Amino acid sequence: CGIVGYIGYREAYPIVIKGLKRLEYRGYDSAGVMLYDGTDLKVSKTKGKVSNLETKSAEEISTNGTIGMGHTRWATHGVPNDVNSHPHLSNSGNLAIIHNGIIENYEPLKKELIKRGYVFKSDTDTEVLVNLIEDVQKKDKLKLGKAVQIALNQVVGAYAICVFDKQKPDEIVVARLGSPLAIGVGEGEYFIASDASPFIEYTSNAIYLEDEEMAIVRLNKPLKIRKIKDDSLVDPYIQELQM
Ligand code: GLU
Repeated sequence: CGIVGYIGYREAYPIVIKGLKRLEYRGYDSAGVMLYDGTDLKVSKTKGKVSNLETKSAEEISTNGTIGMGHTRWATHGVPNDVNSHPHLSNSGNLAIIHNGIIENYEPLKKELIKRGYVFKSDTDTEVLVNLIEDVQKKDKLKLGKAVQIALNQVVGAYAICVFDKQKPDEIVVARLGSPLAIGVGEGEYFIASDASPFIEYTSNAIYLEDEEMAIVRLNKPLKIRKIKDDSLVDPYIQELQM
């Protein structure tokens, strides 16, 4: 299971696909990608290898866009198939999420969301989380970062997540508890990945999120890292990677 994200000025697709291949050693059963081309959010996902995803995505979406995220899935909730693969979209279609880990209390959260009118396409715990974030966001008209934070405080489990909101398409919100998440800091670009191998050729500056931290990764803005629980700001600690 692995996560890759990019936000910057380069084409995201080749970076994401190459990054997913570097993370293949972590093991997986399905793979998927999301791209944002300035107008549209595009998703392609499939059971099987990253090479299957390359074939499928080239056929079904235009792969341009300078914001993207990719995922390799190790199924925990819901069999490995195309629908259960990540990314997952929220009901409105505005939010896209990729997630490594497990949302242990997804069942009561899902029941509550169904009562509130949400419908689910997949059997995953992850689709519950993205709709919980949307529900929180809509109820109080919150920014994505705040909504992610409030939602994560209702969650029991483990996660490394990337969340994208096409209503505010200059940022990716990331968070971690139990699953690794590194951020590569370039000039005018950020990389996100389960380890530094997907971005080591682009930048030697990496920030490793600690458990219970989240970050707003915003284009041409300094990183904002916060503690998920008490909202306190954390000074980013940039490590120099050895090339
Ligand atoms: N629990 C999620 C799922 O089954 C994520 C699995 C993973 O870590 O890849 O879809």
